[in-house]
Amino acid sequence: MPWRLRKYSEQALSREKRSVEPNLSAPIKIVLVYPNLYKTGVASLGFQVAYRLFNEQKDVCCERAFLPDSKIKSLLEKSGNELCSLETVSPLSTFFIIAFSLSFEMDFINMLEILRLSGIPLFSRQRGEDSPLVIAGGAISFLNPEPIADFIDIFLVGDGEELIPKFMRQFTESFCKNRRRDELIADLSRLENVYVPSYYDPVYDGGGRLLSMTQNREVPARVKRGYISDISPYPNQSVISTKNSAFGDVSLVEMNRGCPYGCRFCAISYSYRPLSFRSRESVERMIAESLTDKIGLVGSAIADHPQFDMICKNIAGQGLDLGLASLRADRLTREFMAILHDRGIRTVTIAPEAGSMRMRRIINKPIAEETLLLAAQLAGDAGIAMVKLYFIVGLPWEKESDIDAIINLTRNIKNHHQRYLKFSPKSRSRITVSLNPFVPKPQTPFQWRANERPQSIRKKIERITRAFRRDGGVRVQSYSPREAIVQSLLSRGDRRIGKLLHHQLIHGEKPQTAIKNLGIDLDFYLYREREPDELFPWEIIETKSQREIIRRHYRKARELAQILLG
Ligand code: SF4
Repeated sequence: MPWRLRKYSEQALSREKRSVEPNLSAPIKIVLVYPNLYKTGVASLGFQVAYRLFNEQKDVCCERAFLPDSKIKSLLEKSGNELCSLETVSPLSTFFIIAFSLSFEMDFINMLEILRLSGIPLFSRQRGEDSPLVIAGGAISFLNPEPIADFIDIFLVGDGEELIPKFMRQFTESFCKNRRRDELIADLSRLENVYVPSYYDPVYDGGGRLLSMTQNREVPARVKRGYISDISPYPNQSVISTKNSAFGDVSLVEMNRGCPYGCRFCAISYSYRPLSFRSRESVERMIAESLTDKIGLVGSAIADHPQFDMICKNIAGQGLDLGLASLRADRLTREFMAILHDRGIRTVTIAPEAGSMRMRRIINKPIAEETLLLAAQLAGDAGIAMVKLYFIVGLPWEKESDIDAIINLTRNIKNHHQRYLKFSPKSRSRITVSLNPFVPKPQTPFQWRANERPQSIRKKIERITRAFRRDGGVRVQSYSPREAIVQSLLSRGDRRIGKLLHHQLIHGEKPQTAIKNLGIDLDFYLYREREPDELFPWEIIETKSQREIIRRHYRKARELAQILLG
């Protein structure tokens, strides 16, 4: 092992504060892998929670690994060494289990790169007795695991708090009996919430649509997603803190899971059920045990927490710094803004998502313009000079007037914010507009919807950008429409999309080039409205959101689009 790799690992570890240490003498060796760079992976609370859960299991030692940066990657390639774990710098191929924590489709290619750099066969069917078991969990496992189904031996489908202990108990039992690899997988497949993709064969009709997923073993027709109904008993907080994290040395604390609002483009309301708020006692216990004096409250509806104000006041009262994920504009209060300002927060993020009320009603985020202006006013009043606005471009039934509305709403917010910004007479309001092409997500009412073509999205983004060229204090950022196409393909793709990832990796091609070279039919995958009764690849997973209810939301959106002409 080149000394530079060892040094890299020692440096990263020496900068961490940890409340969990793997038991290096435990016999069952697992490596938990985040398929992106260290700074991104270590910032993920889900990854850290999985690290704690694996290490809490009897006889288990769980280490970590990440996507190497370009320097380390070229070092590995030149030296012929395999990718190694962080803690003991052991090659990944020597572990019994490689567990990927997967939250984003765009990390799929990194996952394959990690397998390649570890010398592990890419396809599960190519792995033999000596290969580690390649498992995956995280949001992807229940949103749509199919594009990577050929590469993963086992998916853990659902919340990890109960699933990981159950899975590891069975693994340990089978392992102690010296079961062969195929027997071990069969033992694990009998557990609820465990999906073995190779036990199912997709069947397509002549037009390429999925007809069925046929079982080739004795397994249920669909795999149930595992849920926990109350997060309070589970201490989901940072167990590692480092300045090298993308969020800095903030100690994250999970406040809630799920969301009550049901925005039609967002999977959170539909896939995390029931909505669960952590008890105040549980939150405060975690804050008392935090690794640093910077607390980041995490959750999709944190301001809806019944004791949110009290918790924030307590954090402020203890002299701790406070950071928050984005809050809904209709949950912001004067008092709360003052706390944010006192705790050193200089930017408030507001996500109107759409410029017009018409569009906000269609997507089921009907926050009135007055409420958005009030949020800007409160930020200004509190002396917070920077406001970040999130918009989605290319939403279903979007019209030119909706794009104009993004421009107008931004200007109104800017003027309003400036008027109330009284921190110092010279303070200038600074607005960042973030434009994100719409990506229809599985398990949401817009899962049936066609994508808008990138050329059209690009024009809309250019129009908005041009409008602000002369407006001082407004900066526009946008996500590439071409990349959004790749994301959409991976997001709603089926098992056949795995060949795109494989081709990209083997030929070192950019995704757009690989799509072209493989002749992937984007009209089929993206630019068509899907049939009302079409079977989706992700329906191999059984969730609590019934198709009929999701479909009703889609019909409602379409009715609104017909009524609200804009
Ligand atoms: S966009 Fe935000 S408010 Fe809407 S459902 Fe998703 S998490 Fe909830």
